[in-house]
Amino acid sequence: MSIKYKELNTVGRYFRKKFGQSVYKVPISISGFTCPNIDGTVAKGGCTFCENDSFSPNLSKNKEKFKLHPDIKENPYINLQIQQLKLQYNATKNRLAKKFGAKKFIVYFQSFTNTYAPIETLTTLYTEALKLDNVVGLSIGTRSDCVTDEILRFLQELSLQQNPNSGLNNEIWVEYGIQSIYDETLEHINRGHNYANIKEWIEKTKGYNLLVCGHIIFGLPNETHEMMLNTIKESIKLGIDSIKIHPLYVTNNTLLAIEYKNGEFNPISEEDYIKTLIKSIQMLPDNISIQRVTAGIDNDSLIAPTWCKNKHSQINNIKKALKNINILY
Ligand code: SF4
Repeated sequence: MSIKYKELNTVGRYFRKKFGQSVYKVPISISGFTCPNIDGTVAKGGCTFCENDSFSPNLSKNKEKFKLHPDIKENPYINLQIQQLKLQYNATKNRLAKKFGAKKFIVYFQSFTNTYAPIETLTTLYTEALKLDNVVGLSIGTRSDCVTDEILRFLQELSLQQNPNSGLNNEIWVEYGIQSIYDETLEHINRGHNYANIKEWIEKTKGYNLLVCGHIIFGLPNETHEMMLNTIKESIKLGIDSIKIHPLYVTNNTLLAIEYKNGEFNPISEEDYIKTLIKSIQMLPDNISIQRVTAGIDNDSLIAPTWCKNKHSQINNIKKALKNINILY
């Protein structure tokens, strides 16, 4: 008897169903954006796993001194930022078109906190991004303590406008780092905000009818399998539309590297990670797509765990585990 497999609701499948073709996210990193957890507004040093200037002076060498902040009066670099947006977008779009025949794209403001700037800077960059060739929407990576009703209202306005490249309304996503629902964990990793803040702003974002993707990390310090699953359970209750999950790994130039070297942090094993991931996937309702099932880093900055080096083998092992529960990746 042949086995019936269910397809995993990947974001790729979600896009194909909605747009009738593949849609590719184009990651963008705009100079000047930073994070309140790095610039000292909320904290200094950033999340313990985040490699940033505080721990790596080399990162700041040759980099621009100008940093955005919501309260600055004017942004003298806005035209350069628009130019940078266009250059990065076109380079990646052309590469994806050549490699995969990609035709439709979402501009993904990925690096740092992409709502942490004066509102004029944000509205200009988001509007310019939607004007780029074959763009059908935006995805904005941020922190829950860096959004305001004014920003969400503007994004909602964009989401109500018809997009000429898709014939549908602009597809507007906000991506929030949830990481964990446990305040003791958030404190331990120096996140700079608590779970109540995450809950409040994800619920507000859903109230503006925007699409929300939640980022979750497994293997955070002192977290058990049950705690990780509770984070998934609560995130589902928040009404998120998509999820990204990855294991916590240690890289050079981070506070976590010091904890690891002092024997104060034990990374999650691949076996435990996959076990927790599979249980999480089984908990997801059909309307939540999955954008990431793991992450790895194949260079010398990885300190531990070594299984995070080979993403190819991680994906193969995840595919096998999914197949065992009759799900096709
Ligand atoms: S919120 Fe993001 S950019 Fe800011 S410190 Fe944490 S990981 Fe780094």
